[in-house]
Amino acid sequence: MAVFRPTGTLHRVTDITPALLCAMHIRAIVLDVDNTMAMHGAQTPHTGVLAWTKQMTAAGVRLVVVSNNYKKRVAPFAEKFALPYISFACKPSPFGYLRAKRLAGVHVRECLVVGDQIFTDIFGANLCGMPSVLLDPIAPDKAWTVRFKRWLEHFLRPHYRRLDPTNYRKNGDSHAFSD
Ligand SMILES: [Mg+2]
Repeated sequence: MAVFRPTGTLHRVTDITPALLCAMHIRAIVLDVDNTMAMHGAQTPHTGVLAWTKQMTAAGVRLVVVSNNYKKRVAPFAEKFALPYISFACKPSPFGYLRAKRLAGVHVRECLVVGDQIFTDIFGANLCGMPSVLLDPIAPDKAWTVRFKRWLEHFLRPHYRRLDPTNYRKNGDSHAFSD
């Protein structure tokens, strides 16, 4: 289903490179937290993530943390990276993403949504016309609500496994709305 289809899939957030972003014409990244930048609820970033954010920032990419989790979880985590954040974003609602886009000062199609969940991160990106990259979750989920979504995801993920984010814009590809 197109509304759930990411632009591309990768294993970890650290697999995103400046060269990939350049090929996709991306100037800002909207980053999910739980199971994308760190294990669910953990304040310690996953291996290599802190260095990766510094590499992205040095390359001129704007990063904004957008999470459905509460401020008390997201604020101290984002402060470790000195990144702006939006907590309790109610993804897949587009509002958090559109606020992040305004914070970054870029157009919708220049804003890449990165996350580990199809029905929140990717669905929300498609609702507001942003390209997206679906990651593998860092660790298995404990909450039953997420485990139920993972069960639904396992029907879709095999179809998306080969989606190469570098194809974005190569063939006039655009499922984005205009901004
Ligand atoms: Mg997540």
